[in-house]
Amino acid sequence: MQRRKEPALGWSLLAVAVWLASLAAGTLVGSPSLQHGVLTASTCVAALAVWARVRCRAEQRAAWSCFAVGLSGYAAGYAVLFYAPGLQRLGPGALNLSDCFSLLLYPGVVVGSALLLRERHGGRRLRALLDGGTVVTAVAALLLQWAAHAYPELVAAPALTVFLTIIYPVAVSALAVSMLAGVLGAPGRPGLQWWLLIAGFSVMSLGELAFMAQLAAGTFTFGTPLDAAFAAGPLGAALAAWARTDPPAEAAPRPVVGVTLPVLATVAALIVLADRGTDLPAAAIMLAVVAGLLAAARTVLFVGQEQTLVARTLEAATDPLTGLLNRRALLTCLTERLGGPGPTTLVLVDLDRFKQVKDSLGHVVGDDLLVQLSKRMSHVCPSDAVVARLGSDVFAVVVADTARQSLTLGAELVEVLAKTVSTGEHRVSVGASVGLATSTGAQALEPLELVRRADVALYRSKQERVEVEAWRPELDVRARDRLTLVADLRAALSSDGQLMVYLQPKCDTLTRRIVGFESLVRWKHPSRGMVAPDEFVAATERAGLMPRLTEKVLHLTLVEAAALKRDGRSVPLAVNVSAPDLLDVGFAGRVAAALEEHELPASVLRLEITETVVMSDPARVLTTLGLLTRLGIRLSLDDYGTGLSSLSYLRTLPVDELKIDRSFVARITTDQASKLIVTSTITLAHGLGLAVVAEGIEDEQTLQALADAGCDVVQGYLLGRPAPACDLVWPDPAREQVLDREPVAVPTLTR
Ligand code: C2E
Ligand code: CA
Ligand code: CA
Repeated sequence: MQRRKEPALGWSLLAVAVWLASLAAGTLVGSPSLQHGVLTASTCVAALAVWARVRCRAEQRAAWSCFAVGLSGYAAGYAVLFYAPGLQRLGPGALNLSDCFSLLLYPGVVVGSALLLRERHGGRRLRALLDGGTVVTAVAALLLQWAAHAYPELVAAPALTVFLTIIYPVAVSALAVSMLAGVLGAPGRPGLQWWLLIAGFSVMSLGELAFMAQLAAGTFTFGTPLDAAFAAGPLGAALAAWARTDPPAEAAPRPVVGVTLPVLATVAALIVLADRGTDLPAAAIMLAVVAGLLAAARTVLFVGQEQTLVARTLEAATDPLTGLLNRRALLTCLTERLGGPGPTTLVLVDLDRFKQVKDSLGHVVGDDLLVQLSKRMSHVCPSDAVVARLGSDVFAVVVADTARQSLTLGAELVEVLAKTVSTGEHRVSVGASVGLATSTGAQALEPLELVRRADVALYRSKQERVEVEAWRPELDVRARDRLTLVADLRAALSSDGQLMVYLQPKCDTLTRRIVGFESLVRWKHPSRGMVAPDEFVAATERAGLMPRLTEKVLHLTLVEAAALKRDGRSVPLAVNVSAPDLLDVGFAGRVAAALEEHELPASVLRLEITETVVMSDPARVLTTLGLLTRLGIRLSLDDYGTGLSSLSYLRTLPVDELKIDRSFVARITTDQASKLIVTSTITLAHGLGLAVVAEGIEDEQTLQALADAGCDVVQGYLLGRPAPACDLVWPDPAREQVLDREPVAVPTLTR
C-alpha cells in the first residue's frame, strides 16, 4: 500500500512565511492596512494548516479538530474586525461579533490541549485537571491584580469593557502557563510539539500584555511588529499540529517538577487574597478563591492517593504476617545486588516439622511461631542482610558474603531456630534445614538461577539431614537424577516386574511365631539396580503418583496373600498407605474391589498409617478410615513417637495396633528415657485396648527388654529381614508342634 504523502513541510513553511510577512510588514512598512491583511492571512493560514492536519492524520484527530475550530474563530475575528466593520454593531468597548469569533480561540485551544494531555497523564488525569485549573485561575487572578495596580483607569471602566480589554492577555497568559504545568506534570519529557505550542502562546501572551499597556497609555495602533505576536499562538499551533507526535511516556511522573507550578500558583492566589491595598476587581478575588479551592482539593486527593500508593507498594513487597519481604521483593533485591562487584549469597531456610505443628496445634500457634522465628532470624543476620519469607515455612536471607562465610551464618540460623518457642500455653520446637548458593561478582548469576541452586542445596540438606548445605555442581547431577527417577517410576508403574514387594515377618514376642508380615515395596530399576523406598517414596508423593504406587503394592501384596492362603498359612499382610491415599474418598472402594478381585476376605489385609497422615486433614482421613474399618480391614498406627504424638487423639483413631518407632526401640537397652517412653507407651496402649508392635529389633537384649515390658509383637532384622515371599522357608509344622516351648519359630531365609 502506498503511503499517502503528507504536506507537513508545505503547511509549516507556508505558516511561517506568512507570519514572517506579518512581522516584516509591521517593522518595515508600518502600514495599518497592509498589516490588517497579513495578520488576517497569517491567522487564516494557521487555521487551514491545522484543518489539513486533521484531514491527513487520524491520530489525535479530536484534539486537533478543537484547535482548528478555535484558530478558525480567531482568524474570522480579525476578518470581521478589519473587513466587515458593518457587522461591528456595538462600537468599541462592547461585545462585538469579532470578539465572539476571536474568543473561540480559548475554549478550542484549552479543550484541544486537555485532550492531548489526557493521553500523557494516563491514570492521573483528575490530578492534572485540578493542577491545570489551579494554575489557570491563579495566573488570571494575579494578572487581574497586577492590571488593577498598573492601570487603575482601565479597571475603573464599565465591567464589560474591563472584561474585553483584559480577557485577551489574561486568557492567553493563563493558557501558556497551564500548558507548561500540564506537560511538566506528566510522565516523560515534553517533545517538540509541546515546546512549539508553549513558545507560540507565550510570545502571544507577551504581545497581549504589551497591547494592554499601550491601550492604557492610549498609544496602541496596528502596523507595528507587535501585531506579529497576536498571530504567534496560532503559528505555534500550526507548527505543533504537523510536528512529530511524542510517543507515550512510560516513565513515572517527575514529582518535584510536576508540582512546582501548581504550588507557585497556589502561593500566587494567596498573595492576591492577602492584597488589601487596592480596590481589587471582584473577578480577581473570585479567581483566587477558586484557585485556592482547587489546590486544596488537589492536596486532599494527592495525600490520599500517595498514602494508598505507599501502602500498596509496601503491601506488594512484604509478607503480611512477618513483615519481611516477599518473594517478588526478594527477586528485585537479588537483581540489584547481583549486578554489584562483590559476592552475593542466597541462604534458603526451610523449617522442619512446621506443618505438623500447625496441623496439630492450629493456625494461630503456627502463625505466632513463624513471627517469633522470623524475628530470631532477623536478629542473627548481619545488618545489611535482606530477610524474606518465600512460602509457608521457607525463608531467604541475602548477604554480601562468600559461601564459606555464609556457612557460619547458616549454622547460626539452624541453632537459633532449633530453640524452643513459647506460644500461648504451648512450648514447641521445630528445626531447620539450610541450603545456600553464591554468585561471585566475576561470574554473576541470574536471580532465578541463584534461587534454583540454593533450592537444590536445600533439598539435599533436608534429604541427607545435614543442617547446612552449599550448592556444588554435583548436586545438580543428583537433582537431574531425581527428575529422571520420576520419569522412570512412571514407566515402572505401567510395566510388570520392576516393582515388587518384600515381606518382613512380625512375630509374637514370647513364642516368636509369625503373626503377620509387613509388605514393603522394592524397585528393581533397569539400570540402577535395587532402589530403596527411602529414595523414591517421597518423590512419588511429590509427583502425585502415590495412589498408583499404593494400588500396585496392594495388588502385589494380595497376590502373596492369596498364595499364603493356598498354603494354609493365612496371616495378615500389612501395606503402608500415605496421605494422598487416605484423602481420596474413593480409596476404601478401591481396596474393597481389589480384595474381591483376589477373592480374599478383609482379614488378610492390614493398613499402616502414620500420625502425620492423619494430621494432614483429620476429618477427611477419619472418614476414609471409618469406611475401611467397616469393610473389616484392621489398621496400625505406624512410626509412633516420631510425630507430635498426642495421646488424646489416639482414642479417636480406629486403629487396633500401635507400632513404636525404631528410633526408641533401638535405644531401649542403653537409654533410660527411651526405655521409659517405650514401657509407658505399652501400658497406655494396652489401657486403650491396642496391641503394641516394636519395630527394628536387631538383638536379643532388646527383644528380652521388650518381652519384659509386655510388648505383644516384634519386628526387626533379628527375626527376619524383608525378603521376597519365595525366599521364606517355613518351619516344619510337625516339628513346631513337638517343640512347643522352642522359642524360634521364625522362617529361616536362604540369603
Ligand atoms: P516403615 O513403614 O517404618 O518400614 C519399616 C522399615 O524399617 C523398612 O524399611 C524395614 O526394612 C526397616 N527395618 C525393619 N526392621 C529393621 C531393623 O531391625 N533394623 C533396621 N535398621 N531397619 C529395619 P524399608 O523397606 O526401606 O522402608 C522404608 C520406609 O519406606 C517404610 O518405613 C515406609 O514408610 C516406606 N515404604 C516402604 N514400602 C512402602 C509402600 O509400599 N508404600 C508406602 N507408602 N511406603 C512404603
Ligand atoms: Ca510401615
Ligand atoms: Ca514404621
